Amino acid sequence: MADLLTVKNLSVHYKIQSGWVYAVDDVNFSLKPGETMGLVGESGCGKTTTGYAVTQLLANNAYLKADSKVIFDGKDLIKMGTYPSKNYPGYRKIDEFNADMRKYRWKRISMIFQGAMNAFNPVYKVGDQIIEAILAHEDMTEQEARKRVEELYDLVGIPKDRIDNYPHEYSGGMKQRAMIAMSMALNPDLIIADEPTTALDVVTQDRILGKMVELQKKENVAMILITHDVSVVAEMAHKMSVMYAGHLVEKGTAREIFKETAHPYTEALLKAFPSIKGEKKKLRAIPGSPPDLANPPKGCRFAPRCPYAKDICLEKEPPVVEISPGHFSKCHFAEELYGELSGGE
Ligand code: SF4
Repeated sequence: MADLLTVKNLSVHYKIQSGWVYAVDDVNFSLKPGETMGLVGESGCGKTTTGYAVTQLLANNAYLKADSKVIFDGKDLIKMGTYPSKNYPGYRKIDEFNADMRKYRWKRISMIFQGAMNAFNPVYKVGDQIIEAILAHEDMTEQEARKRVEELYDLVGIPKDRIDNYPHEYSGGMKQRAMIAMSMALNPDLIIADEPTTALDVVTQDRILGKMVELQKKENVAMILITHDVSVVAEMAHKMSVMYAGHLVEKGTAREIFKETAHPYTEALLKAFPSIKGEKKKLRAIPGSPPDLANPPKGCRFAPRCPYAKDICLEKEPPVVEISPGHFSKCHFAEELYGELSGGE
């Protein structure tokens, strides 16, 4: 099956007064129709920037390195939605009003925004906001769009008579489910879900994740699930990509990442989360903090916190090594450490 999405050499840097913030550097991954990829890492590691770069919903000061590619259904979205920067040669700037790109957002690629609790406009009824998104892309009457919203509410388990309520009349879980309904409104091929269940209690979280999997299977939608919570990925994702300080440090199937961990950062991240099935273990925080991305270290960005670091790690950026077919690790000692690191359950 052909890839639905291929992200190649994606680099996004933010221009700030004192220079550049190297938020995402040389990220590569792909996704087939109906597949879910978990994109995990600590806050500030570049996972949200990576997700938003796909639809180019980035801040005004974001610039993409000219060789970055986001190929969606055979079309390079970066070529389409950005233009060469005059001020910064070698970079491309986002054309935020690009009409072609607008046809892709919501219709082909939709988003579940981080903090769905506050994503709806408080002065408009929730249903009207979803109807507006449908009418902006589909040739439908308002009545037909409303019917579609009713069907979606049915799918996500919100009573139809709540369509005409304002956001403040919804509970947190209902707002989250309404956001999921909105993301499915135009039958997209890909959903980018940014921390879709953060701030919800575990029972509601479980219900909502279950609903997302159900809808995804029914509609064969691909999903990028951005989260810092590896247990959510364990439950939902086929593939997993681990980010650290703007680099993608390990990628493979979710099983490989959990059971055949091949990068020291992944090992540390998994040890910081409770095991779902295995014996109870003491959770271990990762010592230190991520580097300043305005001034990243020249060698491995994880070196100051890595228990396996050697001299070369401080001097030279590690290569990306294919440890087994489709399983990659960005580490000088990936081959030596493969099989030695402890993963999750
Ligand atoms: Fe640790 Fe060195 Fe591998 Fe970086 S390259 S993760 S510092 S062992």
